Amino acid sequence: MPEPAKYTVDDDSCIACGLCHVRAPENIEMDEEAMTAHVVRQPANDEEEDACHEAADYCPTGGLNSAKPETTNG
Ligand code: SF4
Repeated sequence: MPEPAKYTVDDDSCIACGLCHVRAPENIEMDEEAMTAHVVRQPANDEEEDACHEAADYCPTGGLNSAKPETTNG
């Protein structure tokens, strides 16, 4: 089974709109003071992976990023 993507928030791009927290409340929380979102837990199951993937798609600024783990060919 492939490893799930790892999610991160780019503080400089995030405008704290809250969409990602609404979509993936188990994984992403808002930091009202810092005006940014934080990934508090990487997705632990398919449901959370889907939620985080959608949250990254919905993010209006591209501030929520997913990175697939490095794979080696050969
Ligand atoms: S959806 Fe994007 S811009 Fe909005 S709070 Fe989340 S990371 Fe920030």
